[in-house]
Amino acid sequence: MNQADMSDRNPFEYAPAPESRAIVDIKSSYGLFINGEWVEAGQSFKTVSPSTEEVLAEVSDAGEAEVGAAVKAARRAYVRTWSKLAGRDRAKYLYRIARIVAERSREFAVLESLDNGKPIRESRDVDLPLVSAWFFYYAGWADKLEYARADPRALGVAAQIIPWNFPLLMLAWKIAPALAAGNTVVLKPAETTPLTALLFAEVCQQADLPPGVVNIITGAGQTGRALVEHPDVDKIAFTGSTDVGRSIAKAVAGTDKRVTLELGGKAANIVFDDAPVDQAVEGIVNGIFFNQGHVCCAGSRLLVQENVAEEVLARLKRRMGTLRVGDPLDKNTDIGAINSAEQLDRITQLAAVGDAEGAQRWSPPCELPDRGFWFAPTLFTGVTQAHRIAREEIFGPVLSVLTFRTPTEAVEKANNTPYGLSAGVWTDKGSRILWVADQLRAGVVWANTFNKFDPGSPFGGYKESGYGREGGKHGLEAYLR
Ligand code: NAD
Ligand code: MG
Repeated sequence: MNQADMSDRNPFEYAPAPESRAIVDIKSSYGLFINGEWVEAGQSFKTVSPSTEEVLAEVSDAGEAEVGAAVKAARRAYVRTWSKLAGRDRAKYLYRIARIVAERSREFAVLESLDNGKPIRESRDVDLPLVSAWFFYYAGWADKLEYARADPRALGVAAQIIPWNFPLLMLAWKIAPALAAGNTVVLKPAETTPLTALLFAEVCQQADLPPGVVNIITGAGQTGRALVEHPDVDKIAFTGSTDVGRSIAKAVAGTDKRVTLELGGKAANIVFDDAPVDQAVEGIVNGIFFNQGHVCCAGSRLLVQENVAEEVLARLKRRMGTLRVGDPLDKNTDIGAINSAEQLDRITQLAAVGDAEGAQRWSPPCELPDRGFWFAPTLFTGVTQAHRIAREEIFGPVLSVLTFRTPTEAVEKANNTPYGLSAGVWTDKGSRILWVADQLRAGVVWANTFNKFDPGSPFGGYKESGYGREGGKHGLEAYLR
């Protein structure tokens, strides 16, 4: 791959420790979940495991007729049952869902790692605990809405469109507050990662959720567009790329549909010279290599103070040499597969632009499997603010390193981006945090940590990162009139 020093090689060897996939029963084909029942669509498409390219299942491709049927079911459920229930009764269903997800979490984690490519260590220890935490948290709000807003009233039918990087977690972020606030839902998962949403439909049946309160329809961009444009939808909640977000904002302009958009990011992770270096290095690694860097709030721009840059980079490279890339179901894996061939192409092309612009690329020696979609953990030094790799979202395991001399320069560089979702600040005992955080135009600022999420804490962006907040009381307000 490149001429890295042999001393960077991982000194540890592990026996394979694969999680069994026997716990999951993947069907050969799936229908759409509409009005509490499984409905076949005329067309279908395949979802694959990105680590092996194995076809996991055939999934229905919802056309306009099916989108219409799902919205109709959601409307009927809203009018006849869900809006008539007392908050404490809606809460019972949400608590039930939270408990069932927790009980079936191993099944969900294995399925998520298979369909998405993320390491089981992350789906098991991050995604799934957060999913049930999200349902528990919003279950608690369902009978207390008047503490969120005076005279709280639901919006009606919420159309929810989510990406492939945290398939089940994004579903939870969308469905839990919507139902707590009294709305019904039509949700469309991303076309490369539909399987955990379809398993969630089974959880809705198991929880005896009234038919039509949650509808899950699968398909690609066309299906999403039909859902956005459907006249009987009251609210659109979208997480995905800034381009699609922009097209949704245009499509609903002039209607009375409410919209929240969670879009891209290009977060700065700022390391000051007084930071504890080993902790900062862990935070840099977590910031950019967690979930293969398929994270909208990833710390993809490292800003390191010039007088410690050499030391930080040396330790960072040593740490990157110990990262294990490979089988997502292996419990020792740190970095799994890139979610799709398309995403691998995007990462590969933008990294090549980095080379062409004159930045220096480095990766540890690392054997990648022959099949599936993979990209070695990578860093670029010699990056300037004008470089495309410093401006555009790569959405992969690629870090751009820039340096700064003063706190003011750090803030200027951190804010020099069209995005504003998140940032990280590393400094001894938090000494510089308050001043710096106050200057940063980012929705979330982490101090001496990174990528921490909690259902009680709102998340969302400034500028081209979108508008609206998810999580906490703010996330509830987005589903109330
Ligand atoms: P994408 O925007 O292409 O797809 C996201 C979802 O939108 C998918 O379900 C897709 O089928 C659907 N979609 C596509 N075209 C549509 C249209 N015209 N109308 C309606 N729906 C449509 O994004 P992607 O490439 O799959 O995902 C990566 C992007 O998502 C990155 O840019 C990343 O930053 C962003 N993202 C943001 C957040 C956040 O919370 N801010 C979280 C995850 C991902
Ligand atoms: Mg898949």
